[in-house]
Amino acid sequence: MNALSVNNIEVIYDHVILVLKGVSLQVPQGSIVALLGANGAGKSTTLKTISTLLRGERGDVTKGEVRFLGERVDQLTPNELVQRGLAQVMEGRHCFGHLTIEENLLTGAYTRKLSRAQLRDELDRVYRYFPRLKERRNSQAGYTSGGEQQMCAIGRALMAKPSMILLDEPSMGIAPQIVDEIFGIVKDLNANEGVSFLLAEQNTMVALRYADFGYILENGRVVMEGAAHELAANEDVKEFYLGVA
Ligand code: ATP
Repeated sequence: MNALSVNNIEVIYDHVILVLKGVSLQVPQGSIVALLGANGAGKSTTLKTISTLLRGERGDVTKGEVRFLGERVDQLTPNELVQRGLAQVMEGRHCFGHLTIEENLLTGAYTRKLSRAQLRDELDRVYRYFPRLKERRNSQAGYTSGGEQQMCAIGRALMAKPSMILLDEPSMGIAPQIVDEIFGIVKDLNANEGVSFLLAEQNTMVALRYADFGYILENGRVVMEGAAHELAANEDVKEFYLGVA
């Protein structure tokens, strides 16, 4: 069964600019799928279409449908999606800078009615995956590093207990070693709890190392798709996206 199925999505910005020209992709339950492509290819627009955040950005979905666990979800609000188990971590991380790391994490549980003890358990669960966040739990998020803020944003999404997470450019502006740490945690969450991921990445090399399957977007279209190890070995991908041909 597919966790997510995006079928033939077309998106227009400002009534004139066609940026997604019929994008289709699938995320099987329990898998990590990478959405790859250069700056401006349409990765963020695809994620925003799925999470229905596009409406705030003068973007219109003019064709296609999005299904989550088999059901149409394109008319839901982002909150309703989170309640159904689809959480998103958007580009730029969006932690609340003036709140502590722990307060940020707690805001992620707002859709759930949890007792104090249950909240504590959920925090402990997030801290098991992100020991760094535990160390920094009383620090104001705005004063932590880029990597810690990215972890905080993922941790906050986890507090909603999602079965799937959309991640936009988790590696952006973060030191390579921390990028590996973050992807390693994504892999653990996937392996231990079966959380599915759709992650948009410009960093093709890293994404293909951790993903099961990949789609390459160019100019608002999927131009290539395949198992991650096949894409990583493909000569065109190597030449255009990995810079190692
Ligand atoms: P990036 O890595 O920069 O996020 P991307 O692959 O995610 O790139 P998108 O951000 O989805 O690409 O952008 C796709 C196209 O849509 C680009 O040409 C961009 O200029 C355009 N675009 C994005 N957001 C808007 C907007 N709010 N209004 C008008 N055009 C937009």
